[in-house]
Amino acid sequence: MKKLAMHWKIIIGMLLGVIFGFLMNSVGGKEFVIDWIAPFGTIFINLLKLIAVPLILASLIKGISDLKDISKIKSMGLRTIGIYISTTLVAIVLGLSIVNTLKPGEGMSQDTLEKIKLKYENDAGVADKLAKATAQKESGPLQALVDIFPSNIFNALAEASMLQVIFFAIFVGICLLLIGDKKAKPLVDFFDSLNEVVMKMVDLIMLFAPYAVFALMANVIIAFDDTEVLLKLLWYGLCVVGGLILMVLFYLVLVSVFTKKSPLWFLKEISPAQLLAFSTSSSAATLPVTMERVEEHLGVDKEVAGFVLPVGATVNMDGTSLYQGIAAVFIMQVIWPEGLTFTNQMVIILTALLASIGSAAVPSAGMVMLIIVLESIGFPADLLPIGLALIFAVDRPLDMCRTVVNVTGDATVSMVVAKSLNKLHEPKPKEWDDHYDEVK
Ligand code: ASP
Repeated sequence: MKKLAMHWKIIIGMLLGVIFGFLMNSVGGKEFVIDWIAPFGTIFINLLKLIAVPLILASLIKGISDLKDISKIKSMGLRTIGIYISTTLVAIVLGLSIVNTLKPGEGMSQDTLEKIKLKYENDAGVADKLAKATAQKESGPLQALVDIFPSNIFNALAEASMLQVIFFAIFVGICLLLIGDKKAKPLVDFFDSLNEVVMKMVDLIMLFAPYAVFALMANVIIAFDDTEVLLKLLWYGLCVVGGLILMVLFYLVLVSVFTKKSPLWFLKEISPAQLLAFSTSSSAATLPVTMERVEEHLGVDKEVAGFVLPVGATVNMDGTSLYQGIAAVFIMQVIWPEGLTFTNQMVIILTALLASIGSAAVPSAGMVMLIIVLESIGFPADLLPIGLALIFAVDRPLDMCRTVVNVTGDATVSMVVAKSLNKLHEPKPKEWDDHYDEVK
């Protein structure tokens, strides 16, 4: 086991978790999994979240203070946002093309719809998503902009508000550049050292990953007891997964065209982050590992990775927007066909783009934003719970898949931006075991 590469260890952990979950399902051991297995997954996610904020803070402040040139920050920022918006548009258009061509919603029988309605329309999960969407809508149009600027940095850190922490880190980094090397040195050294410590923490936490994904997957599997509905939604699910796979292929083309690196090498190096994205359904929880892989294994400089990845985890969700395009049209095909107009699909492109920026990087956030996408095209309010009920049963597996794409998209863009700024280097690959040996 020790000789295996990290991604294989994680894959084995996941597969064993899946088998164990099914086994426990069949012997009525759900409670056992919830009480005795799932908490280890939660501990792992907590540890990753624990280091996400110090990692962003330290790597951005250190990275920017190393830049020595403020104008580079502007060009990095503009490039990043420009590429993020473009890839998200590609994702939405791809999703809409798939769902309009394959029409997964048209074959659904009235009988199936009734069954799903009965089972999920009044589900607490659906009600929870509706309540969250209402809360999200109540803020004004510029609230998202206002929210970038913290009034209290300790609150921002405590609440892990990524964009606020990023803003603060860039602000500090710029001021360190402005006050000159001599005065800046103690603080720069401090953040440099903090950055190293947190990176080491990622290595150590990752030693626990194969066991944690076992717990996470077992916990996911015990929640899937409705295979009948899952099969009915198979065509819809396959459309989303097919679109997501095409999106990954698109990233591989970007990597190979813009950075001239081998797509297979890219996939291999980023795979531990992808596997964690799949197991945790959260780009935010995966962020420390994404940063570690991108900086140390893909060779992206700290200041680029430290900016592009946390910003991406928050605002760039290509998998989520592709899913939203497909889900919105699928729901319309089943219960509101008169809404399927060209104008509405154009509105979906715009709102899914905004939704991708507004979605939190946590499990099932995409479904909350889907409600806002649907409302923006005048989807009848009384049909909303039915629409959500329709896709609810398969949301978790699709969430796992779209989170992989969200993370892969961020890593791809960080490579492209780094290359364009001449900040892509030969990586110094280290496996976790080597780090572990160093620690020992
Ligand atoms: N779970 C996704 C993420 O964290 C967001 C979503 O689509 O629900 O990236």
